[in-house]
Amino acid sequence: MTKLITGKTKLLGVIGHPVEHSLSPVMHNAAIAQLGLDYIYLPFPIEPQNLEVAIAGLAAVGVVGFNVTIPHKQAIIPLLSEITPLAQTIGAVNTVSRQNNQWVGTNTDIEGFIAPLQTTYKQDWSQKVAVILGNGGAARAVVAGCTQLGFAQIHVVGRNMQKLEEFRNSWSDSPLAEKFQVHQWEELPKLIPQANLLVNTTPIGMYPKVDESPLSVEEIANLPTGAIAYDLIYIPKPTQFLEQAQKQGAIVIDGLEMLVQQGVAALKIWLQQEMPVEVMRQALQNHLGLGE
Ligand code: NAP
Repeated sequence: MTKLITGKTKLLGVIGHPVEHSLSPVMHNAAIAQLGLDYIYLPFPIEPQNLEVAIAGLAAVGVVGFNVTIPHKQAIIPLLSEITPLAQTIGAVNTVSRQNNQWVGTNTDIEGFIAPLQTTYKQDWSQKVAVILGNGGAARAVVAGCTQLGFAQIHVVGRNMQKLEEFRNSWSDSPLAEKFQVHQWEELPKLIPQANLLVNTTPIGMYPKVDESPLSVEEIANLPTGAIAYDLIYIPKPTQFLEQAQKQGAIVIDGLEMLVQQGVAALKIWLQQEMPVEVMRQALQNHLGLGE
């Protein structure tokens, strides 16, 4: 049934460029419909040079809150009145809410990333080793999430030493800098046999290049028994990486749950109530043709 939009309907949305492929409207509008709330969640395509004026415009039309996606996650920070310590730690904002006539930014990607590790695969992480492939935007939330879970060792592995150094230096003012080490890709054969959690934050294996994997079958074969392989990619489901890891007996987690849980956390901030998580998960799965 089509939603009835009236003069009272409240606005939520996502800003990005491009934003056409964002899955957030599907997931959030499903939750809003289930809860019977008079809200609508819209995509707002905003080019980088229009960001400042757009933010002022969103305030002027009374938007309650919005998500932030590429390329605005860092650029928006100086335009906000306040950002939470969590967003400050990651250095990126993905969720903004209107509080006391001011924009307040936070980041729900950490919550999304750690959700399956805190619930379904819950354990004591204090003696465990995390190995993270990639040092881009998503890796920042993963490092912060692993720190929050209390991993004994966190290793970030990248292909470009200069970018790895920049990644490390960007945390130099944060206590997190002490919590992880950076390595070049060549060091993986030494790291994989120690990994209790192996996370792919690179786009390798993402649709349409579904035959690719960040690691060879031989490399994945060195994962210790009982390790968790976590791929942030959600299409295809499973990726080559997860398929190979599962064949080795690893526990596998794909990126869909992170996507769902970062969305749940954002909606909770705006709507201040419990979310119909399963409705949101199903809406995404149906939309992506995953039919689970
Ligand atoms: P990003 O900022 O562009 O970072 C990508 C990282 O992957 C960079 O460190 C890059 O290395 C590395 N990389 C790319 N191609 C590589 C290759 N061939 N070999 C080795 N390393 C390679 O992207 P992002 O925003 O972090 O996103 C990364 C992935 O996570 C995407 O697939 C995205 O869809 C997914 N993601 C999922 C969720 C979720 O909710 N499930 C949330 C966020 C992101 P360099 O630094 O050397 O260029």
